[in-house]
Amino acid sequence: MRQALSAEPANMCWVYDHSRNCHLLQGSPIPTFVIDVNHVIILWNHACEQITGISAAQMIGTRQAWRSFYSHERPIMADLIVTGATDEEITEFYGPNWQRSSAIDGAYESEDFFPEMGNNGTWLFFTASPLNDTSGNIVGAIETLQDVTGRKRAEADLKEYRDNLEELVRQRTAELAQAHSELIAKAATLEQANEELSQYAFVASHDLRAPLRAVRNYADFLREELDPVLNEEQRSYFDGMGSALRHGDELVNDLLEFSRIGNATIAAQNIPLEDFFAGLHGSLHCAKNDELVVSGQLPVVQADHTLLNQVFQNLVANGFKFNRSSPKRVEIGLSDKRDGMCELFVRDNGIGIDPRYHDRIFKMFKRLHTHKEFEGTGIGLAIVKKAVTKLHGSVRLESNGGEGSTFFITLPQAEKETGNER
Ligand code: ADP
Repeated sequence: MRQALSAEPANMCWVYDHSRNCHLLQGSPIPTFVIDVNHVIILWNHACEQITGISAAQMIGTRQAWRSFYSHERPIMADLIVTGATDEEITEFYGPNWQRSSAIDGAYESEDFFPEMGNNGTWLFFTASPLNDTSGNIVGAIETLQDVTGRKRAEADLKEYRDNLEELVRQRTAELAQAHSELIAKAATLEQANEELSQYAFVASHDLRAPLRAVRNYADFLREELDPVLNEEQRSYFDGMGSALRHGDELVNDLLEFSRIGNATIAAQNIPLEDFFAGLHGSLHCAKNDELVVSGQLPVVQADHTLLNQVFQNLVANGFKFNRSSPKRVEIGLSDKRDGMCELFVRDNGIGIDPRYHDRIFKMFKRLHTHKEFEGTGIGLAIVKKAVTKLHGSVRLESNGGEGSTFFITLPQAEKETGNER
């Protein structure tokens, strides 16, 4: 092929004229080399010198193109084209990483890593095409190289990053699943502990009633028998004992009521609130001047009668108890109705509650006053909250100390009611 193989380009094939193309290929920025039909290198351009680190002077005239890529002698793609290698033979040397070029007839391309090239090896994309004479006979092969190390490393980094990310996601998912099952186990333990505690509170408060009653009876007998000989001071001891016993009784009863809510199975039924409050009015022992006003039209709610009673009895009783106005007034009405729920209010003209304590007072035994100022056990609002929650409702409070208080109770409406909301 040192002689000119003059030809016009044939359809999709390289027809090579060495003298014409040599100058052109020399200056090409694409690393290119050409071998003739005897595998002898006849062109090794500047870009090829740069990428391989081997000069044209060392390569031209030799059959050692393999030196640039491998540490041992073996055919390279251009050699396989010149020898007309079969697909199997190409696969034997390049594995599955090669394919026929879609642009040039008889050309092959491949991408491979060459560990001996460059400092840490080089990834090359290379294309080898046959060179034909005018009759179509193969007279050599041309191979072009493209350094794709940067892209391959970026792809590898990306893959590593993605793998790490997937691993991280796997780890986090496993941790989450673990935390979730631990939480479920803890919730079950807590539920059991809660159940045991409420059983304990129930049994303790229930069983305490009898001895308390006995002590009260004996104290009454003693006082009756000793009354004629008691002096003022001794009488005040009996009074103190009586009021302590009364308080103990209230505490035990409230505790019993509180723990009953936890154990109770709800008997939900449609309760027309107007009838309910009429009944409540009768069961409350209001003082003569106390005003309990139930205003406006009231809906039918879906609730358990006993729980509903506990909610409103406690709220109304508190409205009168924590109250120094004259007359004392508690008003009940409807404040809102939507999404199958209705909101009722219980408003009093009492002493009010500082907003700082609005959350606190719903907790067990949290009182804002001494027993001397206002009697009580500190369990009433805890009962309200527990009962309302059990009824699938909620309770909140609006009050600025000194200006009365309004408690809002949300409850599910009876189903037939939800069709005609305002
Ligand atoms: P108790 O009534 O037995 O003290 P509660 O749990 O019913 O217990 O109430 C807790 C505290 O919240 C009361 O001690 C009182 O300080 C305050 N409180 C409750 N209701 C009212 C109210 N309507 N007005 C003012 N303070 C109230």
